[in-house]
Amino acid sequence: MFFDSHAHLDEACFQPDFDDILRRMAEAGVTRMMNIGFDEASSRRSLALAGRYDWIWAAVGSHPDDAAAVDDACIARYRALAADPRVRAIGEIGLDYHYEDVPRGIQQTAFRMQLALADELGLPAVVHEREAHEDGLNILAEFPRVRGVFHCFSGSLEMARELVRRGWYVGLTGVVTFKNARKAVEVASSIPLERLLIETDCPYMAPVPYRGRRNDPSLVPLVAEKIAELRGLSVETVAQATTQNACRLFGIDA
Ligand SMILES: [Zn+2]
Repeated sequence: MFFDSHAHLDEACFQPDFDDILRRMAEAGVTRMMNIGFDEASSRRSLALAGRYDWIWAAVGSHPDDAAAVDDACIARYRALAADPRVRAIGEIGLDYHYEDVPRGIQQTAFRMQLALADELGLPAVVHEREAHEDGLNILAEFPRVRGVFHCFSGSLEMARELVRRGWYVGLTGVVTFKNARKAVEVASSIPLERLLIETDCPYMAPVPYRGRRNDPSLVPLVAEKIAELRGLSVETVAQATTQNACRLFGIDA
């Protein structure tokens, strides 16, 4: 049984064959999923999806690309959405310095406001962080009670160890199957299994041999297979551990 801890199955690209994807997920043993918002509209769609299936849960929040839209009124609407018990996290929130489309100061303000909401509500955070490792860790340190996951983790092994030390989790995608994925492979091989989550981040990050195509949650076992191979474990062991980890983090009965 696999838990896809980060999916965007509400995206329009999944509409044409939605039922077929659910069937393939069931066949692949993908029995739980977190659907992640990246702005207000997708957060609402995530909650709607979670309301239709008892094995899908939702995260609500604004990605750094959408940070300029995060104001007090937006936070109030996220607070109202998060009152629904299907919402189990605030996310995806964070920092992305790869493109400078949104000024760093605006990203940092939106990140802090949403971490404060997670703190207030006692919910974990789903963090997107790219090329902003130092600022990311420093801002997290301002919210010592908040726990969560760095999804599609792209940092070093040292940074992963620091997150683990602070009680956080590390999410790995199909990137771990890529030929040039030195850092992700190092992290997948080395950090405690109790701190790893598996995810698709679909429709992005399809694992080999589907790299470059549309990803979907039925492919998350390929991520678990790669981690199992790297660690010399059975796929079942990795599936069970990562499912338990996601259930623990998101407050879901295992
Ligand atoms: Zn995402």
